[in-house]
Amino acid sequence: MRAEIISVGTELLLGQIVDTNAPHLSRALSALGIDVFYRDTVGDNIARLTDTLERALSRADLVITIGGLGPTQDDLTKETIAEVLHEPMVVDPEAEEVIKSFFQRRGLPIAQSNLKQALKPQSGTSIPNSVGTAPGALVEKDGKIVIALPGPPCEFVPMVEKSVIPFLSHKTSGARTVIVSRSLRVVGIGESAAEEKVKDLLANSNPTIAPYAKSGECEFRITAKASDESEAREMIAGLEREARTRLGDSIYGVDEETLEIVVVRMLVERKLTLALAESCTGGLVSHRITNVPGSSDTFLAGAVSYSNEAKTEMLGVSKEMLCEHGAVSPEVAEAMAVGAAEMTGADVALGITGIAGPGGGSPQKPIGLVYIGLKTPGGVEVTKSVFGGSRQEIKLRASQTALNMVRAYLLRT
Ligand code: AMP
Ligand code: MG
Repeated sequence: MRAEIISVGTELLLGQIVDTNAPHLSRALSALGIDVFYRDTVGDNIARLTDTLERALSRADLVITIGGLGPTQDDLTKETIAEVLHEPMVVDPEAEEVIKSFFQRRGLPIAQSNLKQALKPQSGTSIPNSVGTAPGALVEKDGKIVIALPGPPCEFVPMVEKSVIPFLSHKTSGARTVIVSRSLRVVGIGESAAEEKVKDLLANSNPTIAPYAKSGECEFRITAKASDESEAREMIAGLEREARTRLGDSIYGVDEETLEIVVVRMLVERKLTLALAESCTGGLVSHRITNVPGSSDTFLAGAVSYSNEAKTEMLGVSKEMLCEHGAVSPEVAEAMAVGAAEMTGADVALGITGIAGPGGGSPQKPIGLVYIGLKTPGGVEVTKSVFGGSRQEIKLRASQTALNMVRAYLLRT
């Protein structure tokens, strides 16, 4: 089955709101093995909506519209669908009852415009709305299915789950296919270098593998289409094995696993404790570590030692060292890590110092320069990085590199 999704609303075209509904629906349809070949966005305009609906019906078996079911003048989707399908609009007595009792319960007067929401294309059925007053509509005609859903996500999402998925799942059973994806999460290697390693695999058609660049990491998503989930999982496993031989330890996790989840798990498994001394990341690494449930089994303390005085008082970094090398230096990164380990007794400690910008850079110490010290039972190491991007991106990349240094240490010991 081929589907097309039409998001209706001038506010979407103006960029005033972000379309979250269409991606939600795309995911639901792909899980049912339904191909989505096109997604359109069109304003609240009858002529252009008519055009879009006609084009969608010419190339898809299933057309789902989102939005434009409200009571106001610019909500025209159901009427336009009826027009395109050459159907009159008729009152759905059940939907009318629901709307009337909705207003009665709240003691509110009911306007004619509200009753307009109880109209449906003649041969269609209304889709109940458990949250709002606007029911959806479903019409099956000439081998095509048209579904109209409301725009507010709090109404749209339950309607997709309760009505649309069960209906379509019933329709597609028999000729059933599923689309399953698995993401390999990669860190410590640039997107193009990573892509180079799996270049020949990118031409695969089923399963496919595709790269997605993210902030501070990248993702390779493997997607398989098969008649059931276990077959799809098997196909994915084959391609994943091949990708893993190419990318090795750059792959730190899969799907929803974050780098901090992996690092906390590895530290807890080894019964090692962690302390942090953060300057330019301002506590971001501590924040990320403490986002992980169970991090108290490893995380002892994190200092946000931003000023030179704080580095001296909290971590014991000497004034002479700060004066001689500057706060952003390999010496200070190392001393911060060592200080954090000594102050807390942690087995593993990080010291992070850098220039997040936009001010404060110089030819010798450019914006994005970050030194990260790592103190472990095996000794001390320091890395130097120069990150690009905004202040926020530099902080994020520094936190990513710091976490990955801990991971790399744990992998090799
Ligand atoms: P409508 O049903 O078109 O009157 O939309 C009502 C409200 O739902 C809009 O003002 C938006 O806040 C929200 N909305 C409409 N379409 C979408 C969409 N595709 N994604 C997310 N929110 C939406
Ligand atoms: Mg609208």
